[in-house]
Amino acid sequence: MVEPTKKVWLDGRFVDWNDAQVPILTHTLHYGVGVFEGIRCYRLHDGGSAIFRLKEHVRRMSDGLKILKMEPAFSEEEVAQACVEVVRANELDECYLRPLMFCGDGAMGLAAVNTTRVAVACWKWGAYLGKEALESGTRLKVSSFNRHHVNVGMVQGKIIGQYVPSSLAKREAIAGGYDEAIMLDTQGYVAECSGENLFAVRDGVIRTAPTYSPILPGITRDTIITLCREMDLPVREERFTRDHLYLCDEVFIVGTAAEVTPVREIDDRCIGAGRPGPITKRLQDAYFDLVRGKNERHRSWLTMI
Ligand code: PMP
Repeated sequence: MVEPTKKVWLDGRFVDWNDAQVPILTHTLHYGVGVFEGIRCYRLHDGGSAIFRLKEHVRRMSDGLKILKMEPAFSEEEVAQACVEVVRANELDECYLRPLMFCGDGAMGLAAVNTTRVAVACWKWGAYLGKEALESGTRLKVSSFNRHHVNVGMVQGKIIGQYVPSSLAKREAIAGGYDEAIMLDTQGYVAECSGENLFAVRDGVIRTAPTYSPILPGITRDTIITLCREMDLPVREERFTRDHLYLCDEVFIVGTAAEVTPVREIDDRCIGAGRPGPITKRLQDAYFDLVRGKNERHRSWLTMI
């Protein structure tokens, strides 16, 4: 359960958590046309807190609005500032932030265009797949639900309504006793998980689906690719199949919520030795160093609170 915080930023001002409410005919509640983000703020190793890659998250929201032909209600700078202020207002040093841009009420029907509204909430959220998964690895199942065809979902945006298949996939995986779902594209290649991008390692080569596959272009994915290049680890953005995954030495999944989570089992097959492998561990450590401000090279990815 989410533990309520004090304030939510709503359309340019702070309101109490319980007063952050919307009318029942809010357009996005009915049709899903809108965008959201998931962002993390971390306590730094040398004091203070910072939001990780805030600029990129806000930019992805703008990309989503453009795809949806929605008018922005605030500039990217204003939304970024709202994110910083909502963390301050709630006096949190580590939290998850949820900006949401949605079409308000007024007209109804699919073609209706109402005022774009914006909310930013934040709350304490620990490891998305659990602390144990971060340490020992998680268990995945290839889903019976596919990712969108590239001309069905506009997956370059983090668009609200597009999350229905992901939600069904995640629920199906959990009901089957697994932790997370792997979703294939409509041609059968591995795309991503319900809320994470996926990396597969075999013979030292790291592969992840390219951005022309129906994946969300994840900011953690980009961070990991950058780290691989800086650490001289061979990384390729190319399509691969589900059976390639079974034969991998290591698999890990990445996202703002799940951070860098090792995978120990896929479809009841052990991955590698069934515990986090050396490349996964190196990248996981490098990621946590980065978000906690220990990597001077990327201090510019941190927005101080
Ligand atoms: N894929 C999907 C479908 C997601 O919802 C997310 C979470 N935003 C990701 C990948 C990971 O993206 P990011 O690293 O930007 O959080």
